[in-house]
Amino acid sequence: MTDLIVTLDGPAGTGKSTVSRKVASRLGVPRLDTGAFYRAAGLAAIRAGVDLADHEAVANVVAGISLDQDEGRMLLDGLDVSEEIRGPESTEASSRVSTHPEVRGLLVVYQRDWVARHDNRAVVEGRDIGSVVLDARPEIRAQRRADQTGKEHAGVLDELRARDERDSTRRASPLIIPEGAEVIDTSDMTVDEVVDRIVELAREAAV
Ligand code: C5P
Repeated sequence: MTDLIVTLDGPAGTGKSTVSRKVASRLGVPRLDTGAFYRAAGLAAIRAGVDLADHEAVANVVAGISLDQDEGRMLLDGLDVSEEIRGPESTEASSRVSTHPEVRGLLVVYQRDWVARHDNRAVVEGRDIGSVVLDARPEIRAQRRADQTGKEHAGVLDELRARDERDSTRRASPLIIPEGAEVIDTSDMTVDEVVDRIVELAREAAV
């Protein structure tokens, strides 16, 4: 079988998760959520009680864990942590540990290994991977997140802006748009329109 890897980047609330699930199902390939790896790494660091700003200590913890994803469930050392990593502590910790280059390096190795074990056929959703980048206006992203979580819009917008700022100014793999990437502003598009566009791009690239 030929390789078919669609990589999908973009900040929170651009529709990445929904779109990547649908694109994966249309193309008949599994989906890898790399954010869940960062969240699980953050959770592991919290559990180990290390200072999240201490890059060596965090990297040591991450080097000693095993991470896997199976049918959308996130496994940390073989145990399902899918719910726990969505909590506020892991969300905050994921963004902090992702600023450490050693941690990113380790997680990228885990992610490449996962894709290789799936015959190099996957939709990979992340921040630093880059063939398609989703974007949307901040107010729209905050509204989508608020609808998803039932939280209040203004608070979500502030939290998104703080996370964007940290993700785009960190020294290791800041959130930037790679050269040659296809940017899709999803603000005024339906999910299905975004999915159709990406499937079309994947098919064009595959010929
Ligand atoms: O996508 P999600 O919100 O689950 O990602 C959690 C955090 O992990 C993000 O805020 C970002 O800081 C980090 N992340 C990253 N690189 C990725 C995926 C996620 O730095 N490829």
